[in-house]
Amino acid sequence: MSPVLELRNLTKTFATKRAFGRKGAEVRAVNKVSLVIEKGQIYGLAGESGSGKSTIARMIMGLTGPTSGDILINGTSILGRAASLEHRQKVQMVFQNPGASLNPRRTVGQSIAVPLVAHHYAGNRAARIGALLEMVQLPAHFADRYPHELSGGQKQRVAIARALAVNPSLLVLDEPTSALDVSVQAKVIDLLEGLVAELGLTFLFISHDLSLMRNFAQTVGILYLGEIVETGPVGPVFANPQHDYTRLLIASVPVISAEEEALRPHIPLINGEIPTAEALLALREGTQPKETLK
Ligand code: ADP
Ligand code: MG
Repeated sequence: MSPVLELRNLTKTFATKRAFGRKGAEVRAVNKVSLVIEKGQIYGLAGESGSGKSTIARMIMGLTGPTSGDILINGTSILGRAASLEHRQKVQMVFQNPGASLNPRRTVGQSIAVPLVAHHYAGNRAARIGALLEMVQLPAHFADRYPHELSGGQKQRVAIARALAVNPSLLVLDEPTSALDVSVQAKVIDLLEGLVAELGLTFLFISHDLSLMRNFAQTVGILYLGEIVETGPVGPVFANPQHDYTRLLIASVPVISAEEEALRPHIPLINGEIPTAEALLALREGTQPKETLK
């Protein structure tokens, strides 16, 4: 059986701005990237900001064409047919910012109906929308709500439901939880994990967050300046990284995330007691409290 996704030497260069008619330099955003994702797999593509992750996602979606190389979905090259309805049925994407990816003027139900209408869904549309909401653990009556009535996590669940509406072979998730609070992040990841198991989905999971990758993906590819410098099953890559850049990335994974760190109280507690309001004010202003901490 063909893999769900295969990238062969995928390359994308961007021309930088030309000045006074001179030819600008080229930015090689993605350089000879090859990878294979089998059905049911979660492949994690990790790399810092600017390493080329979103450019790869955009090429797989057919939003931009590669400079060279090939993209195969279920064994068939998408080049020249990336804009087709058939391609859009096979590959769906969930973006980082759920607020921006939902139309504020459409109800949740109307947003989920868009792909159903485009792909001529033959069944009962309302029932399908209800079932999709249930799949992402939202009540069916959320179909009547507008995006501004939903939390960030709920919006991302709607975006996932919309992406699943046409039964895609591959879901490309580009930093799907980076805009969410840590606690919400964990719940959305749990949901995605459940969906893979339940529906036999295949994910290309893109993230700069290696601790998330370690828990969620099965295979990982480390992207550095547009090239995959290391790839393999998550366990061995994390336990025994071969490339210097991977070691550096893993070494910089904090024990707790930056968000958690920000939530920690930075007030020195004395004998574990809560300081008085006065002491707190003095602390903030850098003066000595009039009254010592009780
Ligand atoms: P990531 O998603 O990993 O942060 P991107 O794929 O967005 O990285 O960007 C990779 C590189 O390509 C960056 O250097 C970025 O500036 C450049 N790039 C991305 N899109 C364009 C574009 N449309 N025109 C010019 N350069 C681009
Ligand atoms: Mg990106």
